[in-house]
Amino acid sequence: MCGIFAYTGSKKAIPILVDGLTSLEYRGYDSAGIFTPADGVFKAVGPVVELRKLLPENANGTSGIAHTRWATHGAPTAENAHPHADQNEILYLVHNGIVENYKELKEELLKAGHTFKSQTDTEVLAHLLGVERGTASSMDEALESTLQKVRGTYGLAVIEKAAPSTIYAAAMGSPIAIGVGENEMCIGSDATAILRVTKQIIYLEDGEFAKITPQNYEIKTLDRKITTRAPEEIEWDADTIKKNGFDHYMLKEIMEAPEVLENSARGRLLLTEGRANLGGLAEHEKELQNIKRLVIVACGSAYYAGVYGKYLIEEYAGIPVEVAIGSEFRYRAHIPEEGAALLAISQSGETADTLASIKEAKRRGILARGIVNVVGSTIARETDLGVYKHAGPEVGVASTKAFLSQMEVLALLALYLGRQRHLSVERAIELGKAIAELPTQAAEILSKHEEVKVIAEKYKDVRDMLYIGRKYNFAGAYEGALKLKEVSYIHAEGYGAGEMKHGPIAMIDPLFPTLAIVPDDAVFEKTISNIEEIKARKGPVIAIATTGNTQIKELADDVLWIPKAIEPMAAILAIIPMQLLAYYVGVAKGYNVDRPRNLAKSVTVE
Ligand code: GLU
Repeated sequence: MCGIFAYTGSKKAIPILVDGLTSLEYRGYDSAGIFTPADGVFKAVGPVVELRKLLPENANGTSGIAHTRWATHGAPTAENAHPHADQNEILYLVHNGIVENYKELKEELLKAGHTFKSQTDTEVLAHLLGVERGTASSMDEALESTLQKVRGTYGLAVIEKAAPSTIYAAAMGSPIAIGVGENEMCIGSDATAILRVTKQIIYLEDGEFAKITPQNYEIKTLDRKITTRAPEEIEWDADTIKKNGFDHYMLKEIMEAPEVLENSARGRLLLTEGRANLGGLAEHEKELQNIKRLVIVACGSAYYAGVYGKYLIEEYAGIPVEVAIGSEFRYRAHIPEEGAALLAISQSGETADTLASIKEAKRRGILARGIVNVVGSTIARETDLGVYKHAGPEVGVASTKAFLSQMEVLALLALYLGRQRHLSVERAIELGKAIAELPTQAAEILSKHEEVKVIAEKYKDVRDMLYIGRKYNFAGAYEGALKLKEVSYIHAEGYGAGEMKHGPIAMIDPLFPTLAIVPDDAVFEKTISNIEEIKARKGPVIAIATTGNTQIKELADDVLWIPKAIEPMAAILAIIPMQLLAYYVGVAKGYNVDRPRNLAKSVTVE
């Protein structure tokens, strides 16, 4: 999920590799490492400056591989940092992504007498490649047979001690590009690092692998058919490349929704059985079966994800759920209860109030579990088991893709807990299938982003805005309003649609628009009535509705369409147009949406 850079040529490799890694720093990572066959392996926790301190001044190698890691398996330690070697240390490898079946592969290797130095899935891959290399006539053959045994995602760079100027790369669901220079070649997980060497770039397709030497490159498919093609000249400047061609990280990260929804569920859905396979929970099955009540503790957007999770877990697993804000929970009185458990949700895994709540709960003997995005973070360690979101690093301060993945992981959790209890196979399969459809549906919504931009232009000068929704979209209304506040500084409020008559309707006039989340669901008619009441008071209405609904088209001033989905999944999809709306309004007003004033990405103070 983070950064790869590799170089082979006639210049000294270490300074080039370190430079390349530094250019990948914007992605955010936890540790870094370098291997050159001539100089050895160097690894450090923290930023590249820490790695720099370890590097020899008189390094001679003219080829090597480098990595910045964003841990998915095993804490961010020097041992877990890449590059990883095989059992006999004949080759070194760097990897972005996740090897889903690493456990099975590791068990087999352990039986065969292998010993491992790290907890990573990557080291298993390195060992497997080493084994295959032992019997194969070439590295091409070894890579082919290894990758056929691997399930999951990877961007790879591999170097063999015996052939130091040749480097291999492979891609599957994680980007890899080759830089073609004059008597030098490089490999990068994105163009930023490569641009330091050359502007001539070739992206690998999924299922392709490449072999580079200082003079040559060769691209093949996994069945070893040569597909070599010419490089393209990249004209972006470094800043555009970092944002993958988007103007802001926020837009880039919103646009990553399909990928994130795919990654968070990857390997976790057993569709035919209607089960969720959540690695971090499997070992504690019994404890989880005994939960009688769940308290979800979180702050900010994660709190709204928690409110959404309450509806899901209550409906699908039948467990009563309370959702509490971290800063409140930690100071409140608690009535001890048999079978109560705490679930903490935090993007960074460092949120101070959520962390304090976990400590407080543990002191009272309550089982505490977590959903976080950052492996090895304090909350991940404090809760000793939990579920990682695998959303990849999020740079934009206002959470977008990480929020979506929180919602999706909660759906997986509801499925898991539900199947431990009364949830029927049929309903479980229905939910599982709907989760699996999210990436395609998200892509469909995002393809119409220009329509959201037009609506944003129309409403950008309003002073206030109301967001309403019911049931599964109740939490979404709050999150939508929060997003708009965060990046456009327009006063926005979330409300349960049914609360309109209890106060907020007093505010409605032609200058006070309402965004109504109103997909085709069990409460559709109810929300339609609320929209009628707003229209009767001449309030403008933007609706988020299910494609093809004609009733809403006539009623609302503007409509953002989402594909048809079951209730809880429609609520996830409805978030995407609201994120886009907030983004485009913020940009139209000329604000720095990636760094809204007064806000910080991870709130590590009370
Ligand atoms: N799964 C690997 C690990 O945890 C790679 C993570 C990454 O993409 O940086 O080490």
